[in-house]
Amino acid sequence: MGDSAVRVQGLWKRFGEQVAVGGVDLELPAGKFIGLVGPNGAGKTTTLSMVTGLLRPDRGTVEVVGHDVWRDPAEVKARIGVLPEGLRLFERLSGRELLGYTGRLRGLPGDEVDRRATQLLDVLDLTGAQHKLVVDYSTGMRKKTGLAAALLHNPEVLFLDEPFEGVDPVSAQTIRGVLERYTASGATVVFSSHVMELVESLCDWVAVMAAGRIRATGTLAEVRGGAASLQEAFLELVGAGGRDAGSGLDWLGGGSR
Ligand code: ATP
Repeated sequence: MGDSAVRVQGLWKRFGEQVAVGGVDLELPAGKFIGLVGPNGAGKTTTLSMVTGLLRPDRGTVEVVGHDVWRDPAEVKARIGVLPEGLRLFERLSGRELLGYTGRLRGLPGDEVDRRATQLLDVLDLTGAQHKLVVDYSTGMRKKTGLAAALLHNPEVLFLDEPFEGVDPVSAQTIRGVLERYTASGATVVFSSHVMELVESLCDWVAVMAAGRIRATGTLAEVRGGAASLQEAFLELVGAGGRDAGSGLDWLGGGSR
């Protein structure tokens, strides 16, 4: 294995009585398309927030491309792009203005920001909407704008929290194409999802999380093991394989009230 993009050791986060992340150790290789998968409430968002310097851990260390996220935040933030959950954008800017502002915050020269913004808007099929206010954008347009903003400074590692959630298939395909091109150039993508088919079709490396802990990591083939699909392996790993979703619902269906 080559260099690590992310190295997490002994990571903990508790919200009151709730342990959201309970001792995560994780090493993610550079240059891979990595999926962090787990059921709702597994701790994916909390983990990604701590890894990207948005949420302070109770305990543990995080290194991204060799720099400690909490001791050296400026160094790390210059090298990463983040598409967070519940993406908050500057609603009263147009998409084009938002990218212009983001690029200048990142310290890029104005003409370079313009050049990159034009290309990103084009590739993401947002050119026609570039002068509309972000507040009027659809979910897919917002995700694509957030992705463009996260890519503008050409980060080494891109973190995406549920990038395809609420996105139609056409926009999903566009996002997918951009991400594949980005990783093909040697960059690393880490994204969270609970959609196994998506992870299986996109990722070459997977970390499975449940109840605040990592249950398996490795290449897709390693994590899948002998199972027919990642979905099946996942259900075994998180212990939901044998649950009968219909039991206890004897009143449901059949027309009676
Ligand atoms: P999902 O796929 O549903 O987004 P997730 O894997 O991202 O889930 P988290 O959002 O990290 O999971 O949540 C992990 C646990 O921590 C959940 O039980 C959640 O209720 C709890 N939690 C997360 N953030 C907070 C918070 N700010 N305050 C209290 N509890 C929280």
